[in-house]
Amino acid sequence: MLSSNAMRAFSTAIRGRPLHVAVIGSGPAGFYTAHRVLKDIPDVKIDMFESLPVPHGLVRFGVAPDHPEVKNVMNKFDEVATDDRFTFLGNVHVGGKDLPLSALKSNYDAIVFSYGASEDRRLIVPGEDLQNVYSARSFVGWYNGLPNHRELMPDLDSTDTAVIIGQGNVALDIARMLLSPIDVLRKTDVTDYALEALSKSRIKHVHVVGRRGPLQAAFTAKELREQMKLPGVRFSTDVQLLQSEIANGAEYLNKSRPLKRLMSILEKEIGSPNMLSGDKSWTLDFLRSPSRIIPDSTNNNVAAIEYELNRLDGPAESRRAIGTGQFVTQDCGLILRSIGYKSIAMEGIPFDESSGRVPNKYGKVLDGENEVPGLYTAGWLKRGPTGVIATTMNDAYETADTLAADFVAGKPFLNEVDGVGQKTGSQGLLQLFKDNKIRPISYVDWKLIEKMEFEAGQKIGKPREKFGRVEDMLAVLSTEDLKTSM
Ligand SMILES: Cc1cc2nc3c(=O)[nH]c(=O)nc-3n(C[C@H](O)[C@H](O)[C@H](O)COP(=O)(O)OP(=O)(O)OC[C@H]3O[C@@H](n4cnc5c(N)ncnc54)[C@H](O)[C@@H]3O)c2cc1C
Repeated sequence: MLSSNAMRAFSTAIRGRPLHVAVIGSGPAGFYTAHRVLKDIPDVKIDMFESLPVPHGLVRFGVAPDHPEVKNVMNKFDEVATDDRFTFLGNVHVGGKDLPLSALKSNYDAIVFSYGASEDRRLIVPGEDLQNVYSARSFVGWYNGLPNHRELMPDLDSTDTAVIIGQGNVALDIARMLLSPIDVLRKTDVTDYALEALSKSRIKHVHVVGRRGPLQAAFTAKELREQMKLPGVRFSTDVQLLQSEIANGAEYLNKSRPLKRLMSILEKEIGSPNMLSGDKSWTLDFLRSPSRIIPDSTNNNVAAIEYELNRLDGPAESRRAIGTGQFVTQDCGLILRSIGYKSIAMEGIPFDESSGRVPNKYGKVLDGENEVPGLYTAGWLKRGPTGVIATTMNDAYETADTLAADFVAGKPFLNEVDGVGQKTGSQGLLQLFKDNKIRPISYVDWKLIEKMEFEAGQKIGKPREKFGRVEDMLAVLSTEDLKTSM
């Protein structure tokens, strides 16, 4: 890799101007890519576009309120934003009619697509659209203040039983939110309206349901331990299945330490006081595939869920669920499907519908076998909607390094077949913003919004009280105060 000085001299000699990079999405993938590109290429200008007025993606709207330590990455993102080569443009959605991707393509040398996964996978069973059947994405968005789901208003006081379909960390986050003592949640940044609903919740029993067996559970040890420590919450599961799967899978477990640790946490619970007492309960149900959701007498609300029972087939490391033709029904008044998030296509870039990803090689967008000059991708959009922030950081760094290597190798960027051309980044978009009444929110503006959130939180002993509506976020900033940082 070139030294900073050599890189700067190289850049200026070739272009006579900075490299203009647009980053779409301000989650971890966007920020970590920006961080590394700023480090790799001194003569660069980065504009980060974000649909919402507020940054940080799922760190703000996904990570559970009782995991404040995870949110410390925001401090790192704040550092990135203080670099004077970086500009945040919140409240600017890319890809719609107001700001089509083509406008970015003509004003930037490179575009990094890191807009995450804004939809979710469905069960595709009858009854899925009944009242009180939600995706984990909307339920998590609701308690975390995502404006789209602010008005979800799940009914938590007409039932004592909730079913969560899926056995990953998001499922356990939700189970914990439903079963935690309300006084614990009061000290977190959970939104005030969600806290109010949770304080009146009658839900006492939460079933966390999977198609296959214990060895296929996708949650991790930390989240499982937290779940086991919830006060007054009894744990139950099919002990016989657990024991036989652990015994039959011994060889496989010896090769996978994290899974072995997970199984030993579950095994330790067998016969423990945690399985014997508690007013509330959580259950790990295995070998069940939802076949239909059954309405109540009004035909509007969920009353029960029906499963087909499965048996397991194949070796321990790749067990398959085979339907047995036997069905069971579980009464419940709330169903949350937590079977995965899903990215959506943006017009103007290749997208693989079957994998839900932008095809890429080390982060460089591919059209068939061919690299597309100037287009890159990072994060959940690049590798699919799985993995924690650390995984996202590593793949964002890979994308940034690919971009920097292309730069050093003198590969063409966007519209550079006939020379580097004139690119001015967001300066070239000002007229479009004006014409389409787009009001970009700068990072300084965001810090003002955040300051108000801290102040509101402090008054009631919470780290922050989030604004849950876009208009409330914007109201913090009077029109005169709106700084576009451009
Ligand atoms: C419920 C939940 C809990 C989690 N908890 C943890 C945890 O405790 N610890 C951990 O390490 N990881 C956790 N993760 C994983 C972590 O959040 C992800 O690894 C990470 O956020 C993915 O980053 P990303 O930048 O790819 O996507 P995102 O974080 O989703 O960011 C994408 C951003 O792009 C914006 N955007 C979308 N479309 C557009 C557009 N057209 N124009 C402009 N902007 C757009 C979105 O508004 C969003 O801000 C959790 C994930 C979920 C879903």
